[in-house]
Amino acid sequence: MALIVQKFGGTSVADPDRMRAVAEHVAFTKRHGNDVVVVVSAMGKTTDNLISLAAQVSNTRSGREMDMLLTTGERMSAALVCMAISDLGIDAVSFTGSQVGIITDNKHGKAKIIEVKGDRVREALAQGKVCVVAGFQGVSNENEITTLGRGASDLTASALAQALNADACEIYTDVTGVFTADPRIVPQARKLAHVNFDEMLEMAGAGSKVLALRSVEFARNHNVPLHVRSSFTWEPGTWVSSKEPGMEEPIVSGVVTDTSEAKVTVIGVPDRPGISAALFEPLADANVNVDMIVQNTSKEGTTDISFTMPKADMAVAEQIVARVAAEIGAVGVNHNASISKISLVGAGMKTSPGIAAKMFRVLADNGVNIEMISTSTIRISVVCSAADLETAARCLHTAFGLDSGQAYAAPLPERK
Ligand code: ADP
Ligand code: ASP
Ligand code: MG
Repeated sequence: MALIVQKFGGTSVADPDRMRAVAEHVAFTKRHGNDVVVVVSAMGKTTDNLISLAAQVSNTRSGREMDMLLTTGERMSAALVCMAISDLGIDAVSFTGSQVGIITDNKHGKAKIIEVKGDRVREALAQGKVCVVAGFQGVSNENEITTLGRGASDLTASALAQALNADACEIYTDVTGVFTADPRIVPQARKLAHVNFDEMLEMAGAGSKVLALRSVEFARNHNVPLHVRSSFTWEPGTWVSSKEPGMEEPIVSGVVTDTSEAKVTVIGVPDRPGISAALFEPLADANVNVDMIVQNTSKEGTTDISFTMPKADMAVAEQIVARVAAEIGAVGVNHNASISKISLVGAGMKTSPGIAAKMFRVLADNGVNIEMISTSTIRISVVCSAADLETAARCLHTAFGLDSGQAYAAPLPERK
């Protein structure tokens, strides 16, 4: 008998009809002789709505109370999906992250998993029950409820799959797999049958939401193959695993777009040792994930420093940057939330020179101005204006030979 972990994202459980469809699929899997552990996200936009609700009652929003609040979204889905499964005559039981023993550190909002105990899941499975686990959450060593970061129900699924030694970890979402680009932005995107962990890691790190970064890190470190597929069509999707790229793999395997970051520029910074440390140390201490950094050449002893960071961390960062700018005697601070980051990712780029030059030429020919550039061995990223996102993604997708020749045909559910 196989043990299958099935994770369903927010759009997959967005309303009662979707929940019943999910329950049918879980029941089908169980009736075919498998043990099933279901991991669910909060319904639709529940997490975003809870965050904005919190913002309406508080300016401070302590991490502990945010986690108490946000975990209710997943808990609600777990109980409802469990009821829907039970109604189909399948014995099912729901659990919170804490109940299944997902033990984390105490960093509210971005907690790291220390251990997955899983005893209650094992017991329930042994009694023939389907387990429905609330994703995205755990409990700290100090017995506090924690969340694992946005999108982290994917991480709950891969961590449970590893702890339970599952035979498969299926990540059900609202597109039919991992594509060469987000099909919502590039309709010509092509479905990939297989992506290796390193490429998926770069794609997730560059901002592709289809799998949360930490779930890919975890899956790679523990060698848990993931099958990303659709809960709307149920067709086979994309395997993410440790398979090495073959001889004939394309140099560029995907174009990644990200609109979740903002750009901050500190203007007129004195050009002397210690300034960057003074700026970035307090941001790191506040857990702000700074991404790209550019320091301009110095003119008359001063320079400008620009960096990108998640828009979600802007409120925290704004105060820190304003304070540091005043302390170091900078002229001012600029914020720009209307940016997008476009990245090319591909294992073949390691051994192929000229990809960056071609990328810049294609963008220039299409009138896209590049504001920042960063690279890794298998990724090149540029920051441009948000208004240029679609043009940039589509022209690069075409220029690097990725177009599928037909527009994405499966339904693209509206993200309520
Ligand atoms: P879920 O709620 O199921 O976790 P997410 O919103 O986190 O879903 O991820 C699915 C979305 O990821 C898709 O709707 C799609 O718009 C987006 N996406 C971004 N890049 C890709 C890609 N390369 N392949 C497929 N989907 C992508
Ligand atoms: N509900 C959480 C979020 O929106 C976690 C998840 O969906 O995986 O980030
Ligand atoms: Mg997701």
